[in-house]
Amino acid sequence: MAGEPQADCLFCKIVSGSIPATVVRETETTVAFRDINPQAPTHVLVIPKVHYPDAASLAAAEPQITADLLREAGEVAADDKVDSTGYRVVFNTGPGAGQTVFHAHAHVLGGRGLDWPPG
Ligand code: IMP
Repeated sequence: MAGEPQADCLFCKIVSGSIPATVVRETETTVAFRDINPQAPTHVLVIPKVHYPDAASLAAAEPQITADLLREAGEVAADDKVDSTGYRVVFNTGPGAGQTVFHAHAHVLGGRGLDWPPG
C-alpha cells in the first residue's frame, strides 16, 4: 500500500531504528539525520516517515508531509547556523540525477560555498 514501510528500503530501516543514524531532528512525520558521506560541513537528509520513492510522488500523495519536510529542512539549517550564509535543499530525482536511495529525501547542504549550476 502507498506509504507503507518497504522491507528492502534503507531509509525505512532508519525510520524504524533497525539501522542506526545520527538523528538531529525528529517530528511526528519526519526524521533528519547526518549523511554518511557528507559533501559539505552541513549535510543532513530529511525524510518522511512514510515511504514514497521520490519527492514528486510524496508531494502528490502527502502535501502536508511534503510541507513538513521543507519546514524541517529550514530548521536543520537554522540549528546548524547555516541559514544566514545560505544553504541548498536538493531532491535528486531519478538515477540520471544521482538518486541512489528510492525513499524520498531532501539533502540540506551548507557551511561552504556552493557552486551553480551543480554538477
Ligand atoms: P541520493 O543519492 O540523492 O539518493 O542520496 C542518498 C544519500 O544517502 C547519499 O548522499 C548517501 O551518502 C546517503 N546514505 C546512504 N546510506 C546512508 C546511511 O546509512 N546513513 C546516512 N546516509 C546514508
